[in-house]
Amino acid sequence: MSPRSHCPHCMTIIPFYRNIPIISFLLQKGKCASCGKEISIQYPIVEILTGFVWVISFAYFTPLYGAMVALFSSILIALAWIDIQIMMIPLSLIVSGLILIIIGIMVGIFNWQTVFWGGLTGVLFPLAMMGLTYLFTKRQGMGWGDVQLGFILGAWLGPLRMMLTLFIAAALGLLVWTGISLFKGFDRDRPLPFAPYLAIGAVAMIFLGSYVGLIFDKFLLL
Ligand SMILES: [Zn+2]
Repeated sequence: MSPRSHCPHCMTIIPFYRNIPIISFLLQKGKCASCGKEISIQYPIVEILTGFVWVISFAYFTPLYGAMVALFSSILIALAWIDIQIMMIPLSLIVSGLILIIIGIMVGIFNWQTVFWGGLTGVLFPLAMMGLTYLFTKRQGMGWGDVQLGFILGAWLGPLRMMLTLFIAAALGLLVWTGISLFKGFDRDRPLPFAPYLAIGAVAMIFLGSYVGLIFDKFLLL
Protein backbone atom coordinates (compact mmCIF):
# COMPACT_ATOMS: atom_id res chain seq x y z
CA MET A 1 0.00 0.00 0.00
CA SER A 2 2.92 2.29 0.57
CA PRO A 3 4.50 3.74 -1.49
CA ARG A 4 1.48 3.92 -3.82
CA SER A 5 1.56 2.11 -7.17
CA HIS A 6 3.64 4.11 -9.58
CA CYS A 7 5.35 3.73 -12.94
CA PRO A 8 8.95 2.61 -12.32
CA HIS A 9 10.11 4.73 -15.28
CA CYS A 10 8.45 8.13 -14.79
CA MET A 11 7.39 7.63 -11.14
CA THR A 12 3.88 8.95 -11.88
CA ILE A 13 1.40 7.64 -9.33
CA ILE A 14 -1.19 5.38 -10.98
CA PRO A 15 -4.76 6.53 -10.23
CA PHE A 16 -7.19 3.79 -9.13
CA TYR A 17 -9.08 3.83 -12.45
CA ARG A 18 -5.85 2.97 -14.28
CA ASN A 19 -4.92 0.31 -11.72
CA ILE A 20 -7.62 -2.26 -12.50
CA PRO A 21 -6.06 -5.73 -12.66
CA ILE A 22 -5.58 -7.11 -16.21
CA ILE A 23 -8.15 -4.65 -17.73
CA SER A 24 -5.95 -1.55 -17.35
CA PHE A 25 -3.03 -3.41 -18.89
CA LEU A 26 -5.17 -4.38 -21.90
CA LEU A 27 -6.77 -0.91 -22.29
CA GLN A 28 -3.37 0.79 -22.22
CA LYS A 29 -1.90 -1.89 -24.51
CA GLY A 30 0.77 -2.62 -21.93
CA LYS A 31 2.10 0.94 -21.83
CA CYS A 32 2.28 3.59 -19.10
CA ALA A 33 -0.39 6.26 -19.60
CA SER A 34 2.02 9.06 -18.70
CA CYS A 35 5.34 8.21 -20.33
CA GLY A 36 4.35 5.47 -22.78
CA LYS A 37 7.08 3.07 -21.57
CA GLU A 38 6.21 -0.60 -21.47
CA ILE A 39 4.57 -2.13 -18.39
CA SER A 40 6.18 -5.41 -17.44
CA ILE A 41 4.21 -8.50 -18.50
CA GLN A 42 4.75 -9.75 -14.94
CA TYR A 43 1.89 -7.58 -13.66
CA PRO A 44 -0.90 -9.19 -15.71
CA ILE A 45 0.66 -12.64 -15.14
CA VAL A 46 0.54 -12.21 -11.36
CA GLU A 47 -2.97 -10.75 -11.62
CA ILE A 48 -4.28 -13.68 -13.70
CA LEU A 49 -2.57 -16.18 -11.38
CA THR A 50 -4.09 -14.53 -8.30
CA GLY A 51 -7.54 -14.38 -9.89
CA PHE A 52 -7.30 -18.05 -10.81
CA VAL A 53 -6.35 -19.00 -7.26
CA TRP A 54 -9.33 -17.05 -5.87
CA VAL A 55 -11.75 -18.79 -8.22
CA ILE A 56 -10.55 -22.30 -7.38
CA SER A 57 -10.36 -21.48 -3.65
CA PHE A 58 -14.05 -20.63 -3.54
CA ALA A 59 -14.96 -23.47 -5.90
CA TYR A 60 -13.11 -26.01 -3.75
CA PHE A 61 -13.75 -24.97 -0.16
CA THR A 62 -16.44 -23.56 2.15
CA PRO A 63 -16.69 -19.73 1.92
CA LEU A 64 -14.76 -19.03 5.14
CA TYR A 65 -11.91 -21.47 4.52
CA GLY A 66 -11.98 -20.58 0.80
CA ALA A 67 -11.47 -16.91 1.63
CA MET A 68 -8.57 -17.79 3.92
CA VAL A 69 -6.95 -20.06 1.33
CA ALA A 70 -7.39 -17.36 -1.33
CA LEU A 71 -5.74 -14.73 0.89
CA PHE A 72 -2.94 -17.08 1.96
CA SER A 73 -2.26 -18.13 -1.64
CA SER A 74 -2.19 -14.47 -2.73
CA ILE A 75 0.43 -13.80 -0.06
CA LEU A 76 2.45 -16.77 -1.36
CA ILE A 77 2.24 -15.57 -4.97
CA ALA A 78 3.50 -12.09 -4.01
CA LEU A 79 6.22 -13.53 -1.82
CA ALA A 80 7.43 -16.05 -4.42
CA TRP A 81 7.51 -13.38 -7.11
CA ILE A 82 9.47 -10.96 -4.93
CA ASP A 83 11.93 -13.76 -4.04
CA ILE A 84 12.53 -14.41 -7.76
CA GLN A 85 13.10 -10.67 -8.34
CA ILE A 86 15.27 -9.62 -5.42
CA MET A 87 16.10 -12.89 -3.59
CA MET A 88 14.40 -11.63 -0.46
CA ILE A 89 11.14 -12.37 1.32
CA PRO A 90 9.49 -9.31 2.91
CA LEU A 91 8.75 -9.85 6.60
CA SER A 92 5.44 -7.99 6.20
CA LEU A 93 4.14 -10.84 4.03
CA ILE A 94 5.28 -13.49 6.54
CA VAL A 95 3.47 -11.56 9.30
CA SER A 96 0.34 -11.31 7.12
CA GLY A 97 0.37 -15.10 6.73
CA LEU A 98 0.85 -15.50 10.47
CA ILE A 99 -2.16 -13.28 11.19
CA LEU A 100 -4.31 -15.49 8.92
CA ILE A 101 -3.15 -18.59 10.80
CA ILE A 102 -3.98 -16.99 14.17
CA ILE A 103 -7.45 -16.08 12.84
CA GLY A 104 -7.73 -19.71 11.65
CA ILE A 105 -7.01 -20.98 15.18
CA MET A 106 -9.53 -18.53 16.67
CA VAL A 107 -12.36 -19.56 14.31
CA GLY A 108 -11.58 -23.25 14.81
CA ILE A 109 -10.24 -24.08 11.32
CA PHE A 110 -6.84 -25.04 12.74
CA ASN A 111 -6.01 -26.62 16.05
CA TRP A 112 -2.97 -25.23 17.75
CA GLN A 113 -1.23 -28.61 18.13
CA THR A 114 -1.07 -29.12 14.35
CA VAL A 115 0.00 -25.49 13.94
CA PHE A 116 2.74 -25.94 16.54
CA TRP A 117 4.18 -29.22 15.21
CA GLY A 118 3.79 -28.11 11.61
CA GLY A 119 5.53 -24.80 12.30
CA LEU A 120 8.35 -26.64 14.05
CA THR A 121 8.74 -29.02 11.07
CA GLY A 122 8.76 -26.07 8.69
CA VAL A 123 11.55 -24.37 10.67
CA LEU A 124 13.73 -27.35 11.61
CA PHE A 125 14.08 -28.93 8.16
CA PRO A 126 15.24 -25.73 6.39
CA LEU A 127 17.50 -24.97 9.37
CA ALA A 128 19.05 -28.45 9.15
CA MET A 129 19.57 -28.02 5.40
CA MET A 130 21.15 -24.61 6.02
CA GLY A 131 23.46 -26.13 8.61
CA LEU A 132 24.48 -29.06 6.40
CA THR A 133 25.08 -26.80 3.40
CA TYR A 134 27.29 -24.58 5.51
CA LEU A 135 29.16 -27.58 6.93
CA PHE A 136 29.99 -29.01 3.51
CA THR A 137 30.36 -25.92 1.35
CA LYS A 138 30.93 -23.05 3.81
CA ARG A 139 28.13 -21.21 2.02
CA GLN A 140 24.75 -20.06 3.09
CA GLY A 141 22.51 -22.31 1.05
CA MET A 142 19.20 -20.93 2.17
CA GLY A 143 18.11 -17.59 3.51
CA TRP A 144 16.45 -16.80 6.82
CA GLY A 145 13.46 -15.79 4.76
CA ASP A 146 13.05 -19.44 3.73
CA VAL A 147 13.06 -20.49 7.39
CA GLN A 148 10.39 -17.90 8.21
CA LEU A 149 8.38 -19.03 5.20
CA GLY A 150 8.80 -22.64 6.33
CA PHE A 151 7.28 -21.66 9.65
CA ILE A 152 4.04 -20.21 8.26
CA LEU A 153 3.69 -22.97 5.65
CA GLY A 154 4.21 -25.68 8.26
CA ALA A 155 1.81 -23.98 10.65
CA TRP A 156 -0.85 -23.93 7.94
CA LEU A 157 -0.24 -27.47 6.63
CA GLY A 158 0.75 -29.48 9.68
CA PRO A 159 3.87 -31.68 9.93
CA LEU A 160 3.05 -34.41 7.36
CA ARG A 161 2.00 -32.11 4.54
CA MET A 162 4.86 -29.76 5.36
CA MET A 163 7.37 -32.57 4.87
CA LEU A 164 5.77 -33.40 1.54
CA THR A 165 5.89 -29.70 0.63
CA LEU A 166 9.61 -29.61 1.36
CA PHE A 167 10.09 -32.72 -0.76
CA ILE A 168 8.13 -31.25 -3.69
CA ALA A 169 10.00 -27.94 -3.36
CA ALA A 170 13.42 -29.62 -3.30
CA ALA A 171 12.55 -31.86 -6.26
CA LEU A 172 11.17 -28.93 -8.31
CA GLY A 173 14.14 -26.74 -7.42
CA LEU A 174 16.57 -29.43 -8.48
CA LEU A 175 14.67 -30.00 -11.71
CA VAL A 176 14.64 -26.29 -12.62
CA TRP A 177 18.26 -25.87 -11.55
CA THR A 178 19.29 -28.81 -13.75
CA GLY A 179 17.27 -27.38 -16.63
CA ILE A 180 18.86 -23.94 -16.30
CA SER A 181 22.32 -25.52 -15.99
CA LEU A 182 21.76 -27.49 -19.19
CA PHE A 183 20.73 -24.39 -21.12
CA LYS A 184 23.00 -21.77 -19.62
CA GLY A 185 25.91 -23.86 -18.44
CA PHE A 186 26.84 -25.11 -15.01
CA ASP A 187 27.53 -22.36 -12.48
CA ARG A 188 27.76 -23.32 -8.83
CA ASP A 189 27.36 -19.68 -7.84
CA ARG A 190 24.02 -19.29 -9.59
CA PRO A 191 21.53 -18.33 -6.88
CA LEU A 192 18.31 -20.31 -6.68
CA PRO A 193 15.34 -18.66 -5.01
CA PHE A 194 13.62 -21.35 -2.95
CA ALA A 195 10.38 -19.56 -1.99
CA PRO A 196 8.66 -20.14 -5.37
CA TYR A 197 9.08 -23.92 -5.04
CA LEU A 198 7.97 -23.91 -1.41
CA ALA A 199 4.93 -21.87 -2.44
CA ILE A 200 4.05 -24.25 -5.30
CA GLY A 201 4.45 -27.26 -3.00
CA ALA A 202 2.34 -25.67 -0.28
CA VAL A 203 -0.50 -24.64 -2.61
CA ALA A 204 -0.50 -28.16 -4.06
CA MET A 205 -0.76 -29.56 -0.53
CA ILE A 206 -3.55 -27.13 0.42
CA PHE A 207 -5.66 -28.26 -2.54
CA LEU A 208 -4.64 -31.93 -2.80
CA GLY A 209 -3.77 -32.52 0.85
CA SER A 210 -6.96 -34.43 1.57
CA TYR A 211 -5.91 -37.08 -0.96
CA VAL A 212 -2.57 -37.33 0.79
CA GLY A 213 -4.46 -37.97 4.00
CA LEU A 214 -6.41 -40.80 2.34
CA ILE A 215 -3.26 -42.44 0.96
CA PHE A 216 -1.38 -42.18 4.24
CA ASP A 217 -4.33 -43.44 6.25
CA LYS A 218 -4.33 -46.55 4.04
CA PHE A 219 -0.62 -46.98 4.69
CA LEU A 220 -1.14 -46.65 8.41
CA LEU A 221 -3.97 -49.20 8.29
CA LEU A 222 -1.68 -51.64 6.49
ZN1 LIG B 1 5.55 6.03 -16.82
